[in-house]
Amino acid sequence: MTAPHTGGCRCGAVRFEASAEPHHVSYCHCGDCRRASGAPVSAFVGFLTDQVAFTGKALKMYENGPVTRSFCGICGSPIAYVDERLEDHIYFTLGAMDMPAYFRPTHHAHVREQLPFLHMPDDLPRHLKTSVPRPSSSNPDGTQS
Ligand SMILES: [Zn+2]
Ligand SMILES: [Zn+2]
Repeated sequence: MTAPHTGGCRCGAVRFEASAEPHHVSYCHCGDCRRASGAPVSAFVGFLTDQVAFTGKALKMYENGPVTRSFCGICGSPIAYVDERLEDHIYFTLGAMDMPAYFRPTHHAHVREQLPFLHMPDDLPRHLKTSVPRPSSSNPDGTQS
């Protein structure tokens, strides 16, 4: 399967489409994702923001520090997050994708916060904290707006 990749919420009020292949697919074990999803582990599919288009007007945002999570204002399905330290990137919840089996995670993030009874016997790289380095200063090449 190749791009475009589509997804949306349970009720269909939020739909989105990505015109390219994802640059990132990972599990996240952090407590913040756990709260936001209600699930013991989350998974995300990362694209560049300018490769993504939304349709519908139901998308709601919840901002918490540098991270803004979006969800359907009607059915509540978690849709995506953006991190202001990772400008130009958007991470969709894997479960929001129409073809979730296509997006095989390639690593685990925040395993320091992994629940002790959760066992995922794979050989994927495991990061104690984030799997995506957050730059501490603004974009060093200065070429992007
Ligand atoms: Zn919905
Ligand atoms: Zn997380």
